Amino acid sequence: MDSQIRKIHQQLVSKQISCVDLIQEKLNLLKKNSYNSVNSLLDNTALEAAIKVDTKIANNETIGLLEGIPFGIKDVYMVQGTYTTASSDLLKNYKSAYTATAIQKLLDAGAIPIVKENCDSFGHGSSSENTIFGAVKNANNPNLVGGGSSGGSAVNVAKDYTVFSIGGDTGGSVRQPAGYNSVYGLKPTYGRISRYGLMAYASSTDCVGPIAKSVEDIRIVLNVMSGKDIKDQTTYASSEISEENILNTNTIKTVGYFKNFIESDAINTQIKSDFLAAIEKIKAKCIEVKVLDFFESDTLVSTYYTLAMAETASNLSRLDGSNYGDRVDNKNLKESYAITRSEKFSEETKRRIVGGNQVLSQGFSDEIYLKGLALRDSISENFEKDFEEVDIIISPVTPNTPPKIGDSLKDPLAMYLSDAYTVGFSLGQLPTLTVPQGTKTGLQITAAKNNDELVLKFANFLKDTI
Ligand code: GLN
Repeated sequence: MDSQIRKIHQQLVSKQISCVDLIQEKLNLLKKNSYNSVNSLLDNTALEAAIKVDTKIANNETIGLLEGIPFGIKDVYMVQGTYTTASSDLLKNYKSAYTATAIQKLLDAGAIPIVKENCDSFGHGSSSENTIFGAVKNANNPNLVGGGSSGGSAVNVAKDYTVFSIGGDTGGSVRQPAGYNSVYGLKPTYGRISRYGLMAYASSTDCVGPIAKSVEDIRIVLNVMSGKDIKDQTTYASSEISEENILNTNTIKTVGYFKNFIESDAINTQIKSDFLAAIEKIKAKCIEVKVLDFFESDTLVSTYYTLAMAETASNLSRLDGSNYGDRVDNKNLKESYAITRSEKFSEETKRRIVGGNQVLSQGFSDEIYLKGLALRDSISENFEKDFEEVDIIISPVTPNTPPKIGDSLKDPLAMYLSDAYTVGFSLGQLPTLTVPQGTKTGLQITAAKNNDELVLKFANFLKDTI
């Protein structure tokens, strides 16, 4: 699909549509939708912003490319004055006191946020069922899950309720729902976009990620949000990715894929054969394809969950009912903390806090947490070696198609294993994009650190290849 942003920009500038009508139409769609993709609507502020855009156009002032473009925000981003619930009971009445850097940059460019989107609570999940707002339904088949944790964001883009949405990806939460709902979703290189104002899940892999219907829209939004931020010391300065550069796809010579991902017993046979058919089409374009060795999926999943649980246990310790969110009072402060946390966190979140504190506790941390960190280093080294041999790594997004609503809640371990192909790239902090092509749940394109441009370039190549 072509750029929705450019199309709408043209329609606004040529006065084919008004910004107020555009925003109202999207708000109406969101309001009556039955996919549980909405936590709260930002109708008043959105319509006020739209009036300003229309006035500018009426006065023949130039407007920027993103000005007046409606977008959605996963409900884990601070946007001053809006409810920011993380889809949790604990924060269901919490309003942000400030705005996240990535979102502020979009606001400065004139884009209009219209909705805070449903997701797994605190990003904990792969199905968007771990939420107080009802399970998010898949855009292609409402009996299936929307994917997670940024399920509402992917569904809103897929259904054209938003032009693009901003998800968050710690271990696959942008890429997997993008794959489940047949849209594009990018996890940029860690640190390319500031995490300031994104509620922390696992700080060492948390990434801000755009979801959209075209490579070009991903590029536009990525450029706006990128950059060094003094409020996030892990950010770095990056150069803008031009449209021209990513259209010149001749520079990619070698592609690799992980043998064990494809030879695993856990992969759906159709996804496997579709993936191998895509590889053949890539070869037919005279690109060399190398088969690479990698860690077993079980090792990747357990390393990721060990570290992610440890980090989330630390990050969520600030939520005790004192400073943020609802508080359940009890006979003393300690009891109030305990009862607030046990009543207001979901089962899945509590499972992770308990697991994380166990991993970090004296007597266990050397054997479990430090081992996780060592494995993570080995995973990164493996990637470094791979990228001496290939330009791009391609993989399926998920081993299986989306489960039915209800199934993941019954079997959390099976849910964790469904992240087998996404978490490794998170641990490596690499740029990875889901494209809605190749298999039923799409393909993932990965490049070496800071090579986000190459990822988008290869996505353009794939668009014409498979
Ligand atoms: N499904 C993974 C998890 O639950 C990834 C979630 C995410 O990226 N926020 O940890």
